Amino acid sequence: MHMLRQYQVPLQRYMALMDLQERNERLFYKLLMDNVEELLPIVYTPTVGEACQKWGSIYRRPQGLYISLREKGRILDVLKNWPERNIQVIVVTDGERILGLGDLGCQGMGIPVGKLALYTALGGVRPSACLPVMIDVGTNNEKLLNDEFYIGLRQKRANGQEYAELMDEFMTAVKQNYGEKVLIQFEDFANHNAFELLAKYRRTHLVFNDDIQGTASVVLAGLVAALKLVGGTLAEHTFLFLGAGEAGTGIAELIALEMSRQTKAPLEETRKKIWLVDSKGLIVDSRKESLQHFKKPWAHEHEHLKGLLDAVKAIKPTVLIGSSGAGKTFTKEVIEAMTSFNEKPVIFALSNPTSQSECTAEEAYQWSKARAIFASGSPFDPVECHGQTFVPGQANNAYIFPGFGLGLVISGAIRVHDDMLLAASEALARQVTQENFDKGLIYPPFSNIRKISAHIAAEVAAKAYELGGLATRLPRPANLVKYAESCMYSPNYAATADHRELRFFYFFSPE
Ligand code: NAP
Ligand code: MN
Repeated sequence: MHMLRQYQVPLQRYMALMDLQERNERLFYKLLMDNVEELLPIVYTPTVGEACQKWGSIYRRPQGLYISLREKGRILDVLKNWPERNIQVIVVTDGERILGLGDLGCQGMGIPVGKLALYTALGGVRPSACLPVMIDVGTNNEKLLNDEFYIGLRQKRANGQEYAELMDEFMTAVKQNYGEKVLIQFEDFANHNAFELLAKYRRTHLVFNDDIQGTASVVLAGLVAALKLVGGTLAEHTFLFLGAGEAGTGIAELIALEMSRQTKAPLEETRKKIWLVDSKGLIVDSRKESLQHFKKPWAHEHEHLKGLLDAVKAIKPTVLIGSSGAGKTFTKEVIEAMTSFNEKPVIFALSNPTSQSECTAEEAYQWSKARAIFASGSPFDPVECHGQTFVPGQANNAYIFPGFGLGLVISGAIRVHDDMLLAASEALARQVTQENFDKGLIYPPFSNIRKISAHIAAEVAAKAYELGGLATRLPRPANLVKYAESCMYSPNYAATADHRELRFFYFFSPE
């Protein structure tokens, strides 16, 4: 850590960490686990975003498996080239929507690499059981196509049938090579493909889309916790989203599902408490014909409004969530409007990385006269405002997906079910202590993340067993939390496992 801290530039810290991961994997994980709060922003958002943007020029080693259009017809052989046979979690991207940074093509590999490092550090999945995959179908990013250091295919993105066939070959090959219990996490696909892939493979494979489902689960957990500070039930609140893509509609759907579970009202009814704004304005019924299918459930009856501010004033939401990828969109006027009709406006600025955040933590607290309950996607430092210190919450998917994946792995689950997402959400919300609430925190500190992950894993596994036929590891362990903990990788040197250590031990042993 001393060496790492000498680097002032975050990207240099990133490169040093990646070198360490290669050189001494165990030490890398030990550092990451013991210094989560400090290192998470390096291995993950925001620094991983910069790393992806510059991937070609900082490139050293593959770190994962690159599968390109040229390997079509031979993907199974390519998979067999990977040295590890026993894979439990694959994170795969095609690089089309990396964080809020857009199409980074092949350079998006940084995301699966980073996510899997967190699977191990935060969720305890063995490093050798993790496989990062980049599906290279080209890029529409002109700058990259003309960049001498670009490492991917220099062509426009394949789409339509050619794309679908490549993905299908990949999905089939994965199941053939690793069996039915390998978790495939889709990551940072553009939304048209993301929704389609999830719908297509959720019935035949163990698939999870972190942008849609993981985000939904982590945000719902934050909202459930926030209700303890603002009062009321979910159904008593009104939600407005800026951004109606994977994150926005994914969160909206899970909130509606949870409301419907709590109130027994049908989903069609509970959805009416939730409004979304996209790049063309408020989503309303008069736009229904031209809307993408995932937006249609949110087209409620209302006149069409173009701007966010108008929508805020008309809908009067109690909760405002930014998930558009467009930065600085929660202006002073927007936050002041929220504050004018809410005692404690709940404001989530989820867009990543920090440069794309809808507003900063400081702006949220200043403009709301310190009344906002604020959380963001990328981390912000504590803020002094009106003589108080506020610690902004981080609605970071890293709270959920490592534990979620661990739960699937330890129960031998073969499908993901929405109830598991709700279970994960509840498990996370339960980990927020009174002491956390007293500081205005709606997420627990990351320093406890291994314990949090074990609890999430246990709840997810419990659901898998409960849902009959989804869990294949039988019999069900009696104490799932203990079992989850016992399965977690830890970067210690076991004296019996490492011969050099063993010799060292005998040499110095008093006997
Ligand atoms: P996406 O599927 O591409 O959706 C983006 C949505 O935002 C679309 O509905 C788009 O409108 C809308 N939009 C874009 N620019 C806008 C603008 N200036 N005004 C109004 N609406 C605008 O992307 P996504 O996967 O949902 O991700 C969006 C952002 O959320 C990213 O920055 C990502 O990093 C972040 N995110 C955060 C977390 C987290 O904090 N835990 C998790 C996941 C994602 P159209 O549909 O009209 O194009
Ligand atoms: Mn993502």
